[in-house]
Amino acid sequence: MSVAEKGPQRTCVACRLTKNKKELVRYVLAPDKSVLVDYRQHLPGRGGYTCFSVTCIQDAVKRNGFQRCFKTQNLSVDAEQLLGQLTTAVDQKVVSLLGMARKSGQLISGSNAIIEALRKTTTIALVVLAADISAAIGRKIELLAERSDIYCVRLYGKQQLGQMLGKEERSVIAVQAGKLADSLLNELHRHRQLVREN
Ligand SMILES: [Zn+2]
Repeated sequence: MSVAEKGPQRTCVACRLTKNKKELVRYVLAPDKSVLVDYRQHLPGRGGYTCFSVTCIQDAVKRNGFQRCFKTQNLSVDAEQLLGQLTTAVDQKVVSLLGMARKSGQLISGSNAIIEALRKTTTIALVVLAADISAAIGRKIELLAERSDIYCVRLYGKQQLGQMLGKEERSVIAVQAGKLADSLLNELHRHRQLVREN
């Protein structure tokens, strides 16, 4: 937290809390007056911000937070649509981080390779199990990860995990500890938050 507290601060248009800009979601107003999620915080123009929270996004829409922040009355904004954009952006970021992990040799995929790695002293930082992995293998990997205090999450389906890596189905993947794994953990937490709160 302390590192993240440095840097530019912005205020959530819903709950009015001020946080590091990187912890917030940025929005811009498109020329057609629709509100767009600017997940990478790169788009030009005035930005509006909310917490990374389903509640704050819904409240911002309900209470005309975007109208106030963009000083525009007739804008088009819908909470479900923003949440959809946000989920897509998070998943795209996950895909790109997984791709980088794969290219730099920090990604392990396949249940046998991962079980073997988890049985040894390992530098694995996180494990993603497909939601539709076979129950017995999923449980086995979960227990091994738990024993070594490794973050293990069930997310996406086998097909989606495979697609993210440009391959066929993948029931489980693991990433070695490092900066990429840290970034991935952040995005995976965000994905879960969106899914859970919804
Ligand atoms: Zn907020």
